[in-house]
Amino acid sequence: MNPKWNGQFSCFDLVARTGDCSSSVVRVGEIEIGSGDFVVMAGPCAVESERQLLQTAAAVAKAGARILRGGAYKPRSSPYAFQGLGLEGLKILRKAREETGLAIVTEVMSEEDVELIAEYADLMQVGTRSMENFALLEKLGGCGRPVLLKRGMTATLEELLRSAQVIAMNGNPQIILCERGIRTFETATRNTLDIAAVPVLKTVSRLPVIVDPSHAAGVRSLVPVLARAAAVVGADGLLVEVHPYPDQALSDGAQSLPFHQFREMMDDLQPYLAIRDAARQPPLELLAAEGVG
Ligand code: PEP
Ligand code: MN
Repeated sequence: MNPKWNGQFSCFDLVARTGDCSSSVVRVGEIEIGSGDFVVMAGPCAVESERQLLQTAAAVAKAGARILRGGAYKPRSSPYAFQGLGLEGLKILRKAREETGLAIVTEVMSEEDVELIAEYADLMQVGTRSMENFALLEKLGGCGRPVLLKRGMTATLEELLRSAQVIAMNGNPQIILCERGIRTFETATRNTLDIAAVPVLKTVSRLPVIVDPSHAAGVRSLVPVLARAAAVVGADGLLVEVHPYPDQALSDGAQSLPFHQFREMMDDLQPYLAIRDAARQPPLELLAAEGVG
């Protein structure tokens, strides 16, 4: 590990692991993230219709997910792509929460939408393209909801922690970090899952860390195996895209799991979660390792 990371994060005092401070536990409704449980958040990339979301909510809840994901405001790579249902999507998410009891995570892209989205969401998602939208991060400091902060696709872990510090400095320490793959020279996968980010962040920061294998992989066949890796390296949970008919999805269908594959993934994870639980303590003493490998 870069020796700079050996306790040199006092400037990020609200999110770094300084001295003997304990790990943060983030509360999303009744759910605790960072206290040992492996919390799975699942659902479609985008809310497309009431039927699509309610079907998905029921399926992922039955399979063991505890938080329902679904974008109502979508950041898209192309201006011609589906932009999301906006307020209508938020209302559908609320209905899904009422029907299933699942908590809701959904993306906020602009500081102007923070108040509205906070009325509907239990967890506010900051997407990879917004990690350095500082006006948004500042506003989220006062939103009264926990924040899921995704790593910028070209951001270092230091930059991710800096963004987390901005949210915390503005009054909100309830932050979950998310590794969702970074942009590298590799083109075989949509992004490159930086699996080392999980133990590094868990060591230098006090915040919970989850993994999004869907955006990292870009193809559904890789999602379950990346989810295994996330469990074994000590992640606090997953963010996974699931769709009733992935081939008809309006966004990210190729990386979305159909219901049966999501169920299989949840079953398949069990032995890996046992490994995670047996080795739960992060190897903090590694912080003292010399030099850069
Ligand atoms: C998403 O979760 O659907 C999303 C847009 O993710 P990211 O910001 O990581 O690309
Ligand atoms: Mn997506």
